Amino acid sequence: MEPERNICVIGSLNVDLVATATKIPVKGETILASSFAIRYGGKGANQAVACSRLGIQTNLVAKIGDDDYGRQAMEKLAEYSVNTSTVIKEELESTGLALIVVEEETGENVITVVSGANARLSSEDVLRHEEAIVSCSICLLQLEIPLDTVKKTIEIAKRNQIKVILNPAPFQLLNDEILYGIDILVPNVLELEILLGLHIPDSTWYSNDDSETAVIFGLVDRLQRKFQNLALVITLGKRGCIVCPHMENKHLNAFLIEPYISTHHTVDTTGAGDCFCGALAVGLMEYGNLLEAARFANIAAGISVTRQGTQESYPSREQVEYLLK
Ligand code: ATP
Repeated sequence: MEPERNICVIGSLNVDLVATATKIPVKGETILASSFAIRYGGKGANQAVACSRLGIQTNLVAKIGDDDYGRQAMEKLAEYSVNTSTVIKEELESTGLALIVVEEETGENVITVVSGANARLSSEDVLRHEEAIVSCSICLLQLEIPLDTVKKTIEIAKRNQIKVILNPAPFQLLNDEILYGIDILVPNVLELEILLGLHIPDSTWYSNDDSETAVIFGLVDRLQRKFQNLALVITLGKRGCIVCPHMENKHLNAFLIEPYISTHHTVDTTGAGDCFCGALAVGLMEYGNLLEAARFANIAAGISVTRQGTQESYPSREQVEYLLK
C-alpha cells in the first residue's frame, strides 16, 4: 500500500490539573489555591496537535481512561482536527493526569503524574491499529508509553518503510534494536548527555572554542557509524538546534524570532520541544530534507514560546511560512 501524506503519532495523552497558590504546601499542610486551570497535554497529544495545526492529517494512537478527563481531552483534540478514531478507551483506568501546584511568585511547581491509561497502551493496541500507522509516511514517537509498545511500533513502521522520528523524552535507556530502527532521534541537551554519557556545560554552546563541540560531535559520529541510518536533531532551547544528518557535516541552525518580530519576548516555553518535534515531522514531509525541516521546526517552536500555554500556542502553517521567507 502506498503511504499517504499523513503522520501517525503514537504516545501519551494527559490532562493537567493546575492549582496556583501563594506557596507550595509542605507535608501535611492544606492551603487554599488562588486559581485553578485544566490544561491538555501529554507528549503524544501535544505533538499530534502541532502536526495538525500545521495542516497535516494526523492520526493519534493513544489511550484514555473511562472518565470525563479523557472525554474532554478527546473534544480538545477534535477541535484541533486530530484524528482520534484510534484513541482507545481503557475501562477501569483513569486518563493520564498531572496534579500541579504552582507557586504564584516564583513560578516554581511540584508535579505528581498519574500515568493511568498511558501505561496501558500495549503492543497489542498498536497491532490493532496497524492500519493507522502503515497508512502514513512518518511515525512520531516519544517515551511516555511502555518501551515495548515503542519497539513494536518501530518494527511495524520499518516493515512498511515508514520513517520513524523518536523524541527520547522522558529519557530511558535505548537498546540497539530501537536505535537501529529509528531514522531521526530528537533529544534535548539533557537527553543527549545521558545518551552520550557526557556532561555538557551550558557554556559549550556559547563558546567559540571548537574543541568543546568537537568532543560532542565526535561521539555523535561514533553513534552514527554504528547506527548507519540514524540522523540526530539536538534541540538547544533558546539557542535553536543542531542538525546532524547521516555522517555529514554538522550544521548549527539557531533561529531566534526576536529579530523578526520586534515586540517578541519569550512568554512560555512549556511544550516548545513537542511543537518542535511535530513541526520537524511536517517539515520533513514537505521538504524531504532534514536541514530544511529543522529550519521549519525552529521557527514553529520559536513562535510557540511567544504565546501562553502549550497546544494553544502552536502556530498554523501560514504563520510559519510567513517567517520562513
Ligand atoms: P520542553 O520540555 O519545554 O518542551 P525541550 O527541552 O524538549 O522543551 P528545548 O530544547 O527547550 O526542548 O526547545 C525546543 C525548541 O524550541 C528549540 O530547539 C527552539 O527551536 C525552540 N525554543 C525553545 N525555547 C526558545 C526560546 N526562548 N526562543 C526561541 N525558540 C525557543
